[in-house]
Amino acid sequence: MPHAPIHIIGGGLAGSEAAWQAASLGVPVVLYEMRPHRQTEAHKTGGLAELVCSNSFRSDDAASNAVGLLHEEMRRAGSLIMAAGDCHKLPAGGALAVDRDGFSEDVTRRLIEHPLVSIERGEVAGLPPPEWDSVIIATGPLTSPALSAAIQGLTGETELAFFDAIAPIVHLDSIDETITWRQSRYDKPGPAGSGADYINCPMSRAEYEAFLDALLAAEKTSFKEWEASTPYFDGCLPVEVMAERGRETLRFGPMKPVGLSNPHRPGDRPYAVVQLRQDNALGTLWNMVGFQTKLKHAEQARIFRMIPGLAGAEFARLGGLHRNTFLNSPKLLDATLRLKAEPRLRFAGQITGCEGYVESAAVGLMAGRAAAAERLDQPWVPPPPTTAFGALLAHITGGHLAADSDGTRSFQPMNINFGLFPPLEPPSHDAEGHRIKGKDRGAAKKRAVAARALADLDRWLAAPSRVAAE
Ligand SMILES: Cc1cc2nc3c(=O)[nH]c(=O)nc-3n(C[C@H](O)[C@H](O)[C@H](O)COP(=O)(O)OP(=O)(O)OC[C@H]3O[C@@H](n4cnc5c(N)ncnc54)[C@H](O)[C@@H]3O)c2cc1C
Repeated sequence: MPHAPIHIIGGGLAGSEAAWQAASLGVPVVLYEMRPHRQTEAHKTGGLAELVCSNSFRSDDAASNAVGLLHEEMRRAGSLIMAAGDCHKLPAGGALAVDRDGFSEDVTRRLIEHPLVSIERGEVAGLPPPEWDSVIIATGPLTSPALSAAIQGLTGETELAFFDAIAPIVHLDSIDETITWRQSRYDKPGPAGSGADYINCPMSRAEYEAFLDALLAAEKTSFKEWEASTPYFDGCLPVEVMAERGRETLRFGPMKPVGLSNPHRPGDRPYAVVQLRQDNALGTLWNMVGFQTKLKHAEQARIFRMIPGLAGAEFARLGGLHRNTFLNSPKLLDATLRLKAEPRLRFAGQITGCEGYVESAAVGLMAGRAAAAERLDQPWVPPPPTTAFGALLAHITGGHLAADSDGTRSFQPMNINFGLFPPLEPPSHDAEGHRIKGKDRGAAKKRAVAARALADLDRWLAAPSRVAAE
């Protein structure tokens, strides 16, 4: 008896990869793509896995770059997106850039030619019919309004967002804790805290004025025409827009200095304070509270390093505001990407709260494998958190802290980065026995995390509990 199909909605980066993985494991797939009959605001063609903007998959350095490491893990797991990307690569230094048309045509052709994949063109304009017992929803940041409304009906209004409001995230080990201190406002412990939950960066009046001048003069990115009507202004103004409203607005908003005392300078009340809050369960990443922004990335790095304590900040993510449909996944999804409230529905790609072409495809890869395992009645063990796959999955399904004291959701999309991996003590000596010092220690740590990831990935791929039908 042939297996019943998995229904995959959305033939973008994630849906195409999910279809390939499930079909490669012997499970039939029906892939539904609404284009070319109905376009999104950003897509232009009817091709599967269309790249809507840049043609780059970013760094291809698997030894010391997190997205390069993800490339390599995907190659080892038989990724369609990476195979087509490698076939259509263009000269781009250390990055993997692709010929977008050749790439999309190749993905489309390989899926059309696969005997277990059938492709249906048309919008799925509401919840999938009840007889579809295994569904992957991979409809991306521009999910059609009818399907978005249906998903929102299932999840509740506040659990599906239509824009992101991203504040920068800083690696803990790049914060100068001889200048900053840990304290919650008025030492309040809140429901999950200790009273010392924030990292506080103090500013004198002169520092605040200089910072404000830099913010006001900084270059901003503009919204795309179709993004302009996005209702993001409710309650999450970009920091530079707050600055434009008056020189004191930030000091009465996210930078207010009340309820905080600097132990490094007792009795000297800071004029303003920037607060960082722990962002992931590992405690390696900290987000700048209230600093969502549309400033250009280079400007963000330059200006935010003016903040005392952040002069050497390394950013795991810079800020942004975009149209983006995504779930409050840490709350809604289980560890295999199924909607807890309706487990026949699995989610994949950017709608789960990852960010980027490669990350979306990687989540599609995991969803396709997990759904195929379920169909084949085999256990599916999620990849270890030490791998790039596992680190990404952990961020989406549980690694992020949703501990805002006022109860507002704080999960925001994230690219893969080394801050999502469990920390590792860097080697103290190189292969020749020389002591590793200064900046080289950071590079050595990345190489060690990447080597650990690939070794653990190989073990995961070879484990008997994995779906083994290749
Ligand atoms: C304007 C814009 C620019 C971006 N630029 C970049 C960039 O330069 N680099 C980068 O790494 N990431 C970028 N991203 C982020 C993101 O990584 C990509 O959007 C990526 O394509 C997401 O992959 P996905 O598979 O989740 O969604 P998509 O690739 O968008 O695929 C979703 C598919 O679902 C289809 N669909 C939607 N609703 C339905 C429905 N109801 N029924 C049937 N089909 C449906 C869509 O037509 C689409 O083909 C950008 C996002 C946007 C919106």
